[in-house]
Amino acid sequence: MSNCNWVCFDCRYSKRQNKMRENTPKCVFCKMELYNIGYKVAIPKKTDLQGWKNIKKLSFERDIKHLERKAIEDVREKHEIEKEIVRIEKLKDNKENRQLIKKLKKQICIN
Ligand SMILES: [Zn+2]
Repeated sequence: MSNCNWVCFDCRYSKRQNKMRENTPKCVFCKMELYNIGYKVAIPKKTDLQGWKNIKKLSFERDIKHLERKAIEDVREKHEIEKEIVRIEKLKDNKENRQLIKKLKKQICIN
C-alpha cells in the first residue's frame, strides 16, 4: 500500500518498494541509490526520453520547494528561540536559567 516508486533517472530504471524499508534501493545498472519520486507519479516508458526528463524536472522542483519551505521554517524557529533567550535573560539570574539559555543557544548554534 505504501509502496513508492524509486527511479534512476540516468538509466531510466524504476522499482516499487516500501518507503519504510531501511536501505535505499540501488539501480541495478549503475548501482547508484534510487530516487524516491513518491507513489503518485506515473513512470514513463523506458523509451520515453521526454517523459523521463519531465519527471526528473518535476521531482527536483518538488525537492527545491520542500527545501525552501524547510529553510523558512528553520529561520522562524530560530527567531522564536532567540526571543525565548531574550525573555529568559530578563528573568532571575540563576543556575537553572543560565543552563536553559546555554541549551537554547546551543540549539541555534551560538555560543
Ligand atoms: Zn542507474
